[in-house]
Amino acid sequence: MARNPTFTFESYRAVASATRAADLAETSSPFQIEVRFIAGLSNSQKDVFAEAAERWARVIVGDLETAIIRDFSGEVVVDDILIDAEGVFLDGVFGVLGEAGPRIFRPQTALAGAGLPAKAVMRFDKADLGQMEDDGSLLDVITHEMGHCLGIGAFVWSAFGLLKDWPPVLAPGNPTFVGPGAMAEFGILRGAGQPLPVPVANVGGTGSAGSHWRETVFGNELMSPTIAAAGNPLSRLTAASLGDIGYEVDLDGAEPYELPDLMGIAAAGEGPPEPPRGVVLPTVPSSIPSERP
Ligand SMILES: [Zn+2]
Repeated sequence: MARNPTFTFESYRAVASATRAADLAETSSPFQIEVRFIAGLSNSQKDVFAEAAERWARVIVGDLETAIIRDFSGEVVVDDILIDAEGVFLDGVFGVLGEAGPRIFRPQTALAGAGLPAKAVMRFDKADLGQMEDDGSLLDVITHEMGHCLGIGAFVWSAFGLLKDWPPVLAPGNPTFVGPGAMAEFGILRGAGQPLPVPVANVGGTGSAGSHWRETVFGNELMSPTIAAAGNPLSRLTAASLGDIGYEVDLDGAEPYELPDLMGIAAAGEGPPEPPRGVVLPTVPSSIPSERP
């Protein structure tokens, strides 16, 4: 009797532009994100995961070294990142929305993408998926969480030595991201004429502080902690930060973004942004290295 179940899953592959990959990364194998639908997602929700992957495949174009990993489904060849997506029953609307983040990283010996995620998971409360679909925020929330899966956050930033003054000696402190690409873009956004350290979230507890751009500086940017509604651009700064951790990026694939006019907002009597309605827990990354092919 066969005792080794075989798993086949529907999946979606977002592939970067072959032209941009050839021009910018000199590769004939553009960057690919494979989203594997494990269970519990409606067709319209799968479409949202697919569109989120397409947004990231517009800014990451270069190939990473193929990784061979082992997970519950057996041995998997990963080119360039595998993300397992799942809808599950958790605690109903709001509260815990789900968990997302990298699980398996490429080894330090990888020729391209050393230390970058090969496998990640995104698991969401089915009740929240429905709620966010209804209020129009689902695409930006899924895109945001996929950004963490690609490595945006304290774990990878620290591993690359790009997170300064983190954790703070005295909370909240002033942590900054000091990758040269993102600093250049922040300098441009500020009109400073020079690169500037990028303010990183310093409030909100584990999973928020240290792993996002600072909400009070960046407002609706995709990788600030809070997504209150649709309309959160994936900026050149976020794209450049991916370049700083080793991806080959196309900044022209980013979405139009400007810093909020904080003086104008304050003078108009508007309050600070609403607190998040729920939290997505970061995954605890496994340190098991994937194997080289
Ligand atoms: Zn986040």
